[in-house]
Amino acid sequence: MTDRIIPIIRATRATLPPGRDLAAAPEGELVDLRRRRVRDLRISVTDRCNFRCVYCMPKEVFGDDYAYLSRKQLLSFEEIERVARIFVDLGVEKIRLTGGEPLLRKHIENLIERLAKLPVEITLTTNGSLLAKKAQALKDAGLHRVTVSLDGIDDAVFKRMNDVDYAVGDVLDGIAAAAAVGLAPIKVNCVVKRGSNDDQILPLARHFRNSGHILRFIEYMDVGSSNGWCMDEVLPSADVVARIDAEFPLAAIDPNYPGEVAERWRYADGGGEIGVISSVTQAFCATCTRIRLSTEGQLYTCLFAQSGHDLRALLRKGGGDEALRREIAAIWRGRDDRYSEIRTAATALPAAKKIEMSYIGG
Ligand code: SF4
Repeated sequence: MTDRIIPIIRATRATLPPGRDLAAAPEGELVDLRRRRVRDLRISVTDRCNFRCVYCMPKEVFGDDYAYLSRKQLLSFEEIERVARIFVDLGVEKIRLTGGEPLLRKHIENLIERLAKLPVEITLTTNGSLLAKKAQALKDAGLHRVTVSLDGIDDAVFKRMNDVDYAVGDVLDGIAAAAAVGLAPIKVNCVVKRGSNDDQILPLARHFRNSGHILRFIEYMDVGSSNGWCMDEVLPSADVVARIDAEFPLAAIDPNYPGEVAERWRYADGGGEIGVISSVTQAFCATCTRIRLSTEGQLYTCLFAQSGHDLRALLRKGGGDEALRREIAAIWRGRDDRYSEIRTAATALPAAKKIEMSYIGG
């Protein structure tokens, strides 16, 4: 099994169908210094969350006295819509709403209604805690689908990972509610931290097989400067795939589109699809089409960035859309990020002061 996996993973990524290679972006199209298009805009709508996941928002850092952004610092829905409209005009095809926990942002349905007027796919990543209550309203507002984080199916393990005693059952209810209103296909993301929840890989696979939902396992990353990351706690995706394949034979499948983050596998017996996201052991910067807007209007060209570009000042200075568009295009054109390709022990250190995942979203 081991021999077969490793080469296939590499091969799949290299054999994108002819013409779907990002490097060949059409003439005149907005590309960065590595000829990558801008396709995915991720918008963080809050830096707050009701969970304290140990790999993202450890309690000891994000306590009650943590200085969260104030309401007036946040971009308004009108401002977010203005920026989103320009990005769609520049080539963005998908908008993902993130946080913190985006469902904590009051009246988020109103923002979704605004964005739903744009010719773009709108998705949202949530911890599922408020999903059962909000699924119908999100769907009615125009949301297309959701991704739900779930780091274990065993209650004790899940509670240890979210560190606020939140039960698995409530998240599963949220997933069921989202499925019932048609916010599908639903992706379920599990961050795997070796020694903490890697014993949940097979129980999660058993639970979501034949459910129609797509289970994905994310390698534990050195995002931000607070989670005490170390390589020993990273379980490579190849090991995750090997563990599942030993019980449920898997077959590799091609990406849905160039630059798709997850590597896709299907159960050979038709039991559905899983994915692995391997930012640490299989860098995918070469096809990265993502840009991130923070909740107070900073634009980040990489998840592991240390600083951003202030769009809020431009938005509030009364500059017109043309000025904003020029600024955004210039930021993308000057982009050269490839952090996962150059990650070293040094860059992973807290001293690197990278932006926090809970602030910028995944
Ligand atoms: S590390 Fe940065 S450039 Fe690389 S894939 Fe992630 S966001 Fe993109």
